[in-house]
Amino acid sequence: MADLQIVLLNARSDNFAVLIHDEQSGKTASIDAPEAGPIAAELKKRNWKLTDIFVTHKHFDHIDGIPALKSAFDVKVTGPEKSAAETGLYDATVADGDRFDFAGHEVQVLETPGHTLDHVSYYIAGQNLLFSADTLFALGCGRVFEGTAAMMWDSLKKLRALPDETIVYCGHEYTLANARFAVTADPENIRLSERLQEVETLRAEGKPTVPTRLDLEKQTNPFLRADDPAVAAAMNMSGRPADEVFAEVRSRKDNF
Ligand SMILES: [Zn+2]
Repeated sequence: MADLQIVLLNARSDNFAVLIHDEQSGKTASIDAPEAGPIAAELKKRNWKLTDIFVTHKHFDHIDGIPALKSAFDVKVTGPEKSAAETGLYDATVADGDRFDFAGHEVQVLETPGHTLDHVSYYIAGQNLLFSADTLFALGCGRVFEGTAAMMWDSLKKLRALPDETIVYCGHEYTLANARFAVTADPENIRLSERLQEVETLRAEGKPTVPTRLDLEKQTNPFLRADDPAVAAAMNMSGRPADEVFAEVRSRKDNF
């Protein structure tokens, strides 16, 4: 089985879309459709046809491009069962634990609610690929709009349990702001302070900070480290349950 080709695209002000392409079958999927223009332009440039869109959640900046892409391509839109009625945009729906085939690669659906209740992440184990959208960001996590902090913490633990070598694509370029906050939540973490500098350099050069790797996130992302004594101590919450520490980290980030 040949590796999937992956293209990271900027869309809107700070969204990412990711194209995954299988050369042999000619299939191409977009993870979310923040904006039709940049996706269509990239497909044209590469002479690829869009066959699938995998939607992570119902927010406008992840689905806005769907109608235009549907009229331009013979595309199948797969999205979370929980927002199917509300969006009216999906041809197929998925729920936790579902597995489906994309060009011979098994795609696994992980429900990761918290940011929204419908949020799903897509995991392709055979390629070590995770598309975590607005659940897990590089050095951050999504704001908790619809769920509870405890729910978001459970979702992040589910993603944290995937293999270290997992390559993580997220939904937004928020890494620099996340890094500046992260060093306040985990001040003694040497690897994190090094990473802040790496992220500052990348952004100064106009380069994306995504994808990231799960082992690096486990070492440096405070939202994956709410059960680490160092993060609890920085919150003045030593010995408290991890979901409470997580809620405090999330609330401080909201007000940072
Ligand atoms: Zn969102």
